[in-house]
Amino acid sequence: MTNPYQWIEKSLLTIHQVNWYRSVTTIDSLPGAEISINGQKLINFASNDYLGLAGDKRLIKASIEATQKYGTGSTGSRLLSGHRDLHQTLEKAIANLKQTEDALIFSSGYLANLGTITALVGQKDLILGDNYNHSSLKNGAKLSGATYLEYGHNNIADLHNKLQENRQKYRRCLMVSDSVFSMDGDLCPLPDLISLAESFECMLLIDEAHATGVMGKTGAGCREYFDCDGENLIQMGTLSKALGSLGGYVAGSGKLIDFLRNRAATWIYTTGLSPADTAAALTAIDIIKEEPQRRENLWHNVTFLREKTAQFNLISSNSAILCVGLANAETALNLAKTLKKEGIFAPAIRPPTVPTSRLRFSVMATHTLNHLQQLITILEKNLIT
Ligand code: PMP
Repeated sequence: MTNPYQWIEKSLLTIHQVNWYRSVTTIDSLPGAEISINGQKLINFASNDYLGLAGDKRLIKASIEATQKYGTGSTGSRLLSGHRDLHQTLEKAIANLKQTEDALIFSSGYLANLGTITALVGQKDLILGDNYNHSSLKNGAKLSGATYLEYGHNNIADLHNKLQENRQKYRRCLMVSDSVFSMDGDLCPLPDLISLAESFECMLLIDEAHATGVMGKTGAGCREYFDCDGENLIQMGTLSKALGSLGGYVAGSGKLIDFLRNRAATWIYTTGLSPADTAAALTAIDIIKEEPQRRENLWHNVTFLREKTAQFNLISSNSAILCVGLANAETALNLAKTLKKEGIFAPAIRPPTVPTSRLRFSVMATHTLNHLQQLITILEKNLIT
């Protein structure tokens, strides 16, 4: 008799052979610009905690107080078991930040994308997505049963052609794009996407995971950054990056949110966000409003690092994500290892996540000049320009 699970071992071997194997690093300190791994102090360029809020005392205090008041778990789906005032307060705060009529919080950003896309389109419909989109947008599109076409990265001419060729054949059409691309750090051409969506009568969903709290004057995201109208825009985001907590959201019209509350399976059939995570995100939104200097620091750091690393093979970026392109996965893995030995924690990003290998540096508002200077010195020593 053959073992029906034997293929897993073979598959793992192949994953190792092509340098696709991934393992997890254990961090033994609070999150922040400096962390500790196995007792070694490292400067952290691997985190999405752009504003340095995940270890902020005020978020921690809010989480503890919410847990003391409401307990550890939300005890069931919000529709069946009820929710806490905190859930609604957070949704109002997100809608206020995003300047939309309403918002809905999900247990994660990934689930927000899966639930929203599958609720909005089905077999008779069309989805057009950027080929660099996040996995949650791609898998949401596949799960929906709609015809799913990808256009070249930020290639508006290609998108236009695909719309012209296909739009008429389908009932509804949903365009989906990251607003800040997570593995390259560049931005989608939002004004162009909005105008194409209007011309071809399409819905448009943007993923603001890396934009929330970071892009735009008040941290509202890319709609604010580009100063565009987009009142019909569906804006999805996460509470887990600049907001330092856990969870996802969708912000949009009151009708859209009401519809999702009735149709998004990943919201209806799952337990509500924990009181601790909800309270932390709520506190983070207050801080984002009250402390614009965090964003100012972040952009100051980004500009400094971008200028000082211009001699390397930088992948073009307009966000807090900076990537240095490398020849292959092995070079990227070796360089990440060398940096770690020298006190820098930055991940090697490689296929199949991205088409070409790179080191990815996420800049934080709480990085000091000394942190950035150390990174530059170590890169100069280890990278051939
Ligand atoms: N979209 C993008 C662009 C992301 O980078 C991520 C997180 N890596 C997600 C969605 C998923 O968000 P979450 O971590 O809250 O599930």
